[in-house]
Amino acid sequence: MNTQDYIYREDKFGAHNYHPLPVVLEKGEGPFVWDVNGKRYFDFLSAYSAVNQGHCHPKIIKALTDQASRLTLTSRAFYNSALGEYEEYVTKYFKYDKVLPMNSGAEADETALKLCRKWGYKKKGIKENQAKIIACEGNFHGRTISIISMSTDPDARNDYGPFTPGFIIIPYNDLKALEKALNDPDVAGFLVEPIQGEAGVFVPDEGYLKKAYDLCKSKNVLFIADEVQTGIARTGKLLACDHESVRPDILILGKALSGGVLPVSAVLADDDIMLTIKPGEHGSTFGGNPLAAKVAIAALEVIKNEKLAENADRLGNIFRDEFKKIKSDMIELVRGKGLLNAVVIRPKNGKQAWDVCLTMMEKGLIAKPTHDHIIRFAPPLVITEAQLMEAIGIIKEAFRLYE
Ligand code: PLP
Repeated sequence: MNTQDYIYREDKFGAHNYHPLPVVLEKGEGPFVWDVNGKRYFDFLSAYSAVNQGHCHPKIIKALTDQASRLTLTSRAFYNSALGEYEEYVTKYFKYDKVLPMNSGAEADETALKLCRKWGYKKKGIKENQAKIIACEGNFHGRTISIISMSTDPDARNDYGPFTPGFIIIPYNDLKALEKALNDPDVAGFLVEPIQGEAGVFVPDEGYLKKAYDLCKSKNVLFIADEVQTGIARTGKLLACDHESVRPDILILGKALSGGVLPVSAVLADDDIMLTIKPGEHGSTFGGNPLAAKVAIAALEVIKNEKLAENADRLGNIFRDEFKKIKSDMIELVRGKGLLNAVVIRPKNGKQAWDVCLTMMEKGLIAKPTHDHIIRFAPPLVITEAQLMEAIGIIKEAFRLYE
């Protein structure tokens, strides 16, 4: 089969809910992936920041294969010998009393919404069915009905109504709007991405998270951080909230929690919040399975042992500095933190971000546009400085072709 055959087959038998770049991948190692013709690419998407530890990290794959031949799934109807070890490890790692394990990021966000509402009723004393959660314009928290009920993106919402009530939507990076919304006594939580990834890597003003946290505290409202994309070393710290020393009341993680090996997500909180959910009130067949438990421990060990947060911080600065040197009138601006960066593209002669991505792909680097005019650059955090410089060379060459 050639590239076109693979693409044709996906097109014919798969739903058309994605628009991939025309590259068919079959192998990955570290920051690289290879297509079915054996051509190598720098992966500058990292599966939307799930592969922070690099493709097929040997330690994570070993944890996977060791556990896969012993026990993969018990459901939570029974105890298993791996889950407790993971629960102890992950709670100590992120310094929370408890973890609630799920699978996808969206499920973890849903879990956080439910946990927040439960706390609102049981602890804050909000009247039945009145709890509200504040979210931000431009958010991306996943694809379920309740989550898209918070979305302001027409592509994510249109024709999926009716929507779940109980959300207040305010502009991102707007403390005045938050302060005003918090005056409603039925507000139980404020859900926020520390950097809005899918929206195009919007970095809020310095101090925003800390002040937002303080405002929430002053109104007895839970500060809920969705770090599914920003977490686990991506932005140059273990969590993006760490840049402002904010400790969320509820922390949502996914993606790189497994190094991109399995869907593993988690909600972390202290007892006062987490223990408001009682047996039978929430769950997931696969959540907390022993395979995921072992894989997540290995994935988190890699982050610490290989100092990936430090690497992301250092190389992120180099990346942005180098990018700013590129002379191209297609580059409107470069923004980001650590190795979560985006370039806003100014269309030229009908050429858009998509065209630039196709050119980079031809030259051996894959990245994907978000919202037509933005390209996100987020390589695996195991990338070395020499590899990064080689990748930047490819990006420079691609932009040169549009001069
Ligand atoms: N939250 C954030 C901030 C995300 O970026 C994403 C996915 O991109 C999600 C949640 C949803 O994760 P998943 O696709 O695993 O459901």
